[in-house]
Amino acid sequence: MNDGEKLSDRAPAIRIENLGKSFGDFQVLRNVNLTVCQGEKIVVCGPSGSGKSTLIRSINRLEQHQSGRIVVEGTELTNDLKGIEKIRSEVGMVFQHFNLFPHLTILENCTLAPIWVRKLPREEAEEIAMHFLRKVRIPEQADKYPGQLSGGQQQRVAIARALCMKPRIMLFDEPTSALDPEMIKEVLDTMIELANEGMTMVCVTHEMGFAQAVADRVVFMDGGQIIEENEPVAFFSSPRSERTKLFLSQIL
Ligand code: ADP
Ligand code: MG
Repeated sequence: MNDGEKLSDRAPAIRIENLGKSFGDFQVLRNVNLTVCQGEKIVVCGPSGSGKSTLIRSINRLEQHQSGRIVVEGTELTNDLKGIEKIRSEVGMVFQHFNLFPHLTILENCTLAPIWVRKLPREEAEEIAMHFLRKVRIPEQADKYPGQLSGGQQQRVAIARALCMKPRIMLFDEPTSALDPEMIKEVLDTMIELANEGMTMVCVTHEMGFAQAVADRVVFMDGGQIIEENEPVAFFSSPRSERTKLFLSQIL
């Protein structure tokens, strides 16, 4: 970024206004406001059940909100299917449990959506897939099946698969929390590389080293609300709310 250019001067990639969502009588999200600028990296943290997954799943309509607005790259999320498709084509998502197709090879996992959704010729989709498999450092696994790979390798495939759709925004929902400790670093390193290349990212994670390294802002949620947000140094060194202090004392 040029000196003097602030992220907030850029057009917003995601605008969430007064978002509300309930499952039956249970209100999971209340009055959530969050604007993510182009190229910004947001880390979302908070206790289990605080609504983090529901919030980021709402951004690509894996959950449907009931009140408020979500605007992604200028398109508002409504019931309009064209709009939902457009947003999904711009937003990649990586889940805690990888969600690879077990009966497809690594290469096929990566080419499926580009071929069927983007309508790319198979050869071109395979070239792109190999490019991103090299990027996450596992091109040699292309012809294996997910079950033959370690958890860390599977998660890197999941990241490569999402990148094959050339998204403008990447969402991560606790991508390392199902991994053995020795595999966490290889996945975080991949995410840090992506962050350094300027990708807009919203990451739900409790990896506070990652937050310190790449986040422009850390957002703390509790009880379906954003309780506080700040740049990482201030967030960790001088949390304002008692709930944030309690949470940090439990995870740090
Ligand atoms: P987090 O990711 O912060 O752990 P979630 O967004 O997954 O939180 O869930 C927030 C709350 O909403 C939890 O109490 C959870 O049990 C509830 N919840 C999530 N999904 C559903 C669902 N499909 N139906 C009913 N309740 C749900
Ligand atoms: Mg969750």
